[in-house]
Amino acid sequence: MSEKKKKPIIIDGKKLANEIKEEIKREVARMIDNKDKSPHLAAVLVGDDPASQTYVNSKEKASREVGIISSVYRHPSDTSEKELLQIVDFLNKDDEIDGFLVQLPLPAHIDENKIIEAIDPKKDIDGFHPINIGRMVAGLPAYLPATPQGIMEMMKRYDIDTEGKHCVVIGRSNIVGTPISLLMSRKSKPGNATVTICHSRTKDLKKIIRQADILIAAIGKPHFVTEDMVKDNAVVIDVGIHRIHSDQTASGFKLVGDVDFDGVLPKCSYITPVPGGVGRMTIASLLMNTLKAAKKEVYG
Ligand code: NAD
Repeated sequence: MSEKKKKPIIIDGKKLANEIKEEIKREVARMIDNKDKSPHLAAVLVGDDPASQTYVNSKEKASREVGIISSVYRHPSDTSEKELLQIVDFLNKDDEIDGFLVQLPLPAHIDENKIIEAIDPKKDIDGFHPINIGRMVAGLPAYLPATPQGIMEMMKRYDIDTEGKHCVVIGRSNIVGTPISLLMSRKSKPGNATVTICHSRTKDLKKIIRQADILIAAIGKPHFVTEDMVKDNAVVIDVGIHRIHSDQTASGFKLVGDVDFDGVLPKCSYITPVPGGVGRMTIASLLMNTLKAAKKEVYG
């Protein structure tokens, strides 16, 4: 007999992120009361990619809201790799800065991996350095990449049962698909799921997606996941963010995810909207990592 259909719950990423930000704000205030300095986050932005500018502005605004000092180092798109390595070196050595990130993507003439590897792992609040990735894989204290950490926090705070469930992740990027697959399979709560990771070479993709109790879509294709692919009562986490044309908004644009939200909603037990879902948690998660860096919680 099939499982009884429950009313779908739309996960409120905005509300959760605000809760986390309030917690961080209280902790920062407590640190200042104790005569500790405020945590300090720096971001390096190279070039004028509009999406990157928006992300960096959002990170700066969110930091200020919770009392975290934020510095943004803006550099032109013709900044050389050598110059960027010098900036990274400067930030590694600056004791005033607890953690920093270099906003990706970088211009094509700069080797992103070289830059990421130059960041001091103790200040790598994006969690992209191979040492942090390795520590995450080994289950050691590490800065976790912001988006997967945000998704795990979301599941924890909504008390979503993941143990023994079949979790299907679409996408294997280093920043979303691969780390969330690892975290979901880890012996933890949330976690303990049986994970299938799908990518551009996966055969019978729809068939695999239909088996998902928990579906995490990080494929980067608007409205890729449709109602016919989703199992009844599945938990659907939509990581994708796309700005598409719309006749229904004053701006002429709207944000959508990798999931056809309206079509999929009636079939789910839980679903994240776009906007107002995973994206909000990503920023909150970065602030969590900055606080950890200031309190030296990861590396002591
Ligand atoms: P990416 O382009 O690096 O990776 C996409 C993945 O999808 C790849 O691993 C690829 O193998 C897989 N893929 C592509 N076509 C496929 C197909 N036809 N079938 C199966 N798999 C296929 O993307 P990313 O950086 O992981 O980001 C994914 C999406 O999430 C993007 O829309 C991005 O904007 C968004 N994103 C959102 C946040 C957030 O905070 N909400 C953070 C990071 C990324």
